[in-house]
Amino acid sequence: MTEKKSILPTYNVSPERNSAYIRQMLPLMLKHNVPVDPMNYAVWYHYVAGINGELTNAIDSLIEDQKPFDTDVTLNLYKKYICNASIDEFEKINNNLLKLINQTSVSINTASEKASVIGDNFNHTLKVLETNDDGSNIKSVLIEIILQTTQLAEASKDLKSQLDETQKEMEELRKELSVVRETANTDKLTGLLNRWAFDKALEELIHTAIPNQACLAILDIDNFKRINDGFGHLVGDKVIKHIAAILKRHAAPHHQVARFGGEELAIIMPDTTLTEAFDFIEQIRLVLDVSRLTYKRNTETIGKVTVSAGIASFQAEDEITHLLTRADKALYRAKETGRNKVVTENALLQ
Ligand code: GH3
Ligand code: MG
Ligand code: MG
Repeated sequence: MTEKKSILPTYNVSPERNSAYIRQMLPLMLKHNVPVDPMNYAVWYHYVAGINGELTNAIDSLIEDQKPFDTDVTLNLYKKYICNASIDEFEKINNNLLKLINQTSVSINTASEKASVIGDNFNHTLKVLETNDDGSNIKSVLIEIILQTTQLAEASKDLKSQLDETQKEMEELRKELSVVRETANTDKLTGLLNRWAFDKALEELIHTAIPNQACLAILDIDNFKRINDGFGHLVGDKVIKHIAAILKRHAAPHHQVARFGGEELAIIMPDTTLTEAFDFIEQIRLVLDVSRLTYKRNTETIGKVTVSAGIASFQAEDEITHLLTRADKALYRAKETGRNKVVTENALLQ
């Protein structure tokens, strides 16, 4: 939902969903005495939309402990879960990189100043040689040249070792950066793409896909509140993780599987027709339909956990919200007509 990881989050969401979130959010904020200001608005929007499971857990714990949602608490939630913490990491790496570049340029300058002094000395020696007709000073001139050459070699050796060191540090930073990038794109609970990475992937899809040759599916776990209420939030988390793993296992390499929101997952399917997408998602639905989940700790059975899904196919001129809205509407049709169902956008026309 967050379009760009920045200080100010922006959202890609269908108008229907948006108003549903707001209808849920305002009574909750009133109930918990939360002032309706922009920062609280963002925090509670993320909460009801289930964008970040950790934020959900943090707020649930605050509610349970009856902690007030004062400015410090909200600011912490905002900084930690919304204004992406990895921004700090990027900044740290960026600063280290700048420091390295500065150090390197100082080393190069020092080496080049040394080389230029030595170059001047060479010129001076050359002049001595030119005016030295009888060759009387030749020995001292040679000694001078050897000395200058040695100094030059020393200066370039120093520069080389400094540049080697810089290269090593650059390589370290490059590795750190790729870890941070990976973390910034990954949902912690499921290991799938997070909402931010999903939005980026969808943005790319709408710029590259051929109409009717790419699909988006949104899956929502049926009656998930029953699992949370009956077995607790942690078991709920495990169920989300389990379903995410099934999805990932069945997905083709070119599919991009993401955690769309709390207990909603999404798959971007390039080079896929609506019929192919339906067959694939239906296969996932069936896998879940025939399996039964057991809570390992006391072999208590959670039972059957099913999903409903909506699929939309990319159309010419589609913007992200068009595609999302159609997939979302198809998903709601699946819910309205009994759950444990896959509905394509074509069904909406009937
Ligand atoms: P429906 O079949 O209509 O989808 O019913 P539902 O009970 O699944 O209803 P809904 O999708 O509205 O509710 C989703 C619930 O998921 C609400 C929220 O508390 C919970 N949730 C959201 N994110 C997380 C999470 O990260 N972990 C857990 N355990 N629960 C979450
Ligand atoms: Mg849901
Ligand atoms: Mg649900």
